[in-house]
Amino acid sequence: MEEELIQIKNSAVSLALDAKDKKELDDLKIRFLGRSGRLTLALKELSKLPKEKRPEVGKLANEVKNTIEETILEKESQVTKQKSQELKEKIDISIPGIKPQIGHLHPMTQVIYDVVNVFKGLGYQTADGPEIETDYYNFEALNIPKDHPARDTQQTLYLDTRNAKVNPGEIILRTQLSGMQARAMEKIKPPLRVIVPGKVFRYEQVDASHGFEFWQLEGFLVDTNVKLTDLFGTIDYVLRKLMGENIKLKFATTNFPFVEPGVDTYIECTVCKGKGCSFCKMSGWSEIMPAGMIHPNVLKAVGYSSRQWNGFAFCIGLSRLVTLRYKMDDLRLLTNPDMRILEQF
Ligand SMILES: [Zn+2]
Repeated sequence: MEEELIQIKNSAVSLALDAKDKKELDDLKIRFLGRSGRLTLALKELSKLPKEKRPEVGKLANEVKNTIEETILEKESQVTKQKSQELKEKIDISIPGIKPQIGHLHPMTQVIYDVVNVFKGLGYQTADGPEIETDYYNFEALNIPKDHPARDTQQTLYLDTRNAKVNPGEIILRTQLSGMQARAMEKIKPPLRVIVPGKVFRYEQVDASHGFEFWQLEGFLVDTNVKLTDLFGTIDYVLRKLMGENIKLKFATTNFPFVEPGVDTYIECTVCKGKGCSFCKMSGWSEIMPAGMIHPNVLKAVGYSSRQWNGFAFCIGLSRLVTLRYKMDDLRLLTNPDMRILEQF
């Protein structure tokens, strides 16, 4: 019996000293000290010994157990230390780190933030509306009934509603943000100043200055005794804030069914400085901010008294503003995900 115990001890200790990692040591623990380990089984034989021999052998067995445990424990701490030392040698903490690439706002988003900030300074609140719009808000509430020729100028994308309980042609992708005029006025009591930045959609031939989806910002103000000169002042102030004090602007009369009178604002093309290029269709000017005094019918449609209240509305072509500000000669660059383009802003 004593012989066997000594053998177990020698074998366990020599294996422990040779172990290379913690896993080997864990295996040893199970092989010798586990429930059916060699030492545990040997200890069970103790009861078969003659009574007078038991204390002596028991003492030896205890010593063997302690020695094995201690050796494994010591070896374990040695292995762990060695491992962390190796790791330290592999990691050179003096090498400078690699800077992660930090993204930035898309030029479109930057311009939206700037425009919204300028209007905030003028007391405008920002509203948001649905991109899928009804024919009523997009056209009818804006004094454009179903048979109005103005509808022809807005190449409308209709949603397939064959399985829905609505009349055909009732649900569209909004062609303009003016639909938000009626939506906002129905909810807010005058006086009000609201801007709505957002995307609009048209079935258009795509070229350098036209897209089938583009960003606009619609704005409108309703108050008492608003004059056309207030509108001119607002347009002039806003565009100079956004594009610089030295820009050249010109106004022309135009016609939109939801304003009376209608005004078109042109800015001298920043790409060619007025000389004429493909972006401005050789005219030297770019249409940037159509506007006008809100038509009394629009105010009536939302239940405002057109005797008490009047106001103006305007629209900024945000996509065009971005291309003019950054002197891009093609609107399509704005929706191009190529990093070589985006990294320039
Ligand atoms: Zn030009």
